[in-house]
Amino acid sequence: MRRKGLLWSIIIIFTILPIIIDFNLKEELQRLSTFIWSLYLIPNILIMIIYPKWKVIIGTAIFYSAMKYIAFFIEKESISQLEMIALILESFVNGAILFTVSYFRLGYNKLLEHTQKLIIIDPLTGLYNRRYFDLYMEKTIPLSLRINSPLSLIMIDIDHFKRINDNYGHPCGDEALKHISEIIKANVRNSDAYVRLGGEEFAIILPNTHLDEGQILAERIRKAVEQSNFAHHNEQIPISISLGVSLYKGEEIEGFLEKVDKALYRAKENGRNQVVVLR
Ligand code: GH3
Ligand code: MG
Ligand code: MG
Repeated sequence: MRRKGLLWSIIIIFTILPIIIDFNLKEELQRLSTFIWSLYLIPNILIMIIYPKWKVIIGTAIFYSAMKYIAFFIEKESISQLEMIALILESFVNGAILFTVSYFRLGYNKLLEHTQKLIIIDPLTGLYNRRYFDLYMEKTIPLSLRINSPLSLIMIDIDHFKRINDNYGHPCGDEALKHISEIIKANVRNSDAYVRLGGEEFAIILPNTHLDEGQILAERIRKAVEQSNFAHHNEQIPISISLGVSLYKGEEIEGFLEKVDKALYRAKENGRNQVVVLR
């Protein structure tokens, strides 16, 4: 926010500066005029950095060119051919610099966005990964404490997943992971963070959600998986999940995760394909 304020201050200064200088330039220094208008490259580049979009870049370039030509024609009673050529050439040079810088900057932004996605997305399922989970928890937990909002967490583990791998092969196991991920995605809200923690374990962070709502969602996902059709080479394969749910109560993150993990462990112990809630 402070950085944006600073950039806008520079933009405003360099928008006004060439006008002031040019209108106050002594007769013998008039030849410098076109160089002074080159200063418009600065606001153009800064606006491009704030709004990295071609529409904005072209719009600003047209706006600043118009400012320059209007100021130039108002100020001068007669314009020599040489002055006109210098002015047009200056526009071309500035335009070339602006568009080259913008091309690389936009490419860099795109690459950065793509890499950032790669860092936090699990390539197999398209869900967020453990790294995102840790970052999200670190950010969400203090926030939920500050605004006194409930935060629930569901942990999910596929039942007897090893059997699927052993009986039908690893690619079928991968298909099962994708199948479960799709069911999770279809049942959560946009504000929930759904994660593949690793292997055949998943988690759903539920901000602003009480334990009973978390339990209802967990049960809905469990049922959806149980009733889903998962097939490999036209063979129907039964699939189920166990789920642990708990509410955050101000403890350390590690302690909270252990509590949810314990709920999940109990669901396994009690016979799998069920939801266990730990208060
Ligand atoms: P439980 O009901 O107790 O959870 O039994 P389980 O067989 O699901 O649990 P276990 O932890 O024994 O087995 C997990 C298996 O998940 C072992 C591992 O080979 C497999 N696995 C982990 N990551 C992947 C993956 O990316 N793809 C596939 N196909 N299998 C994976
Ligand atoms: Mg497991
Ligand atoms: Mg398992």
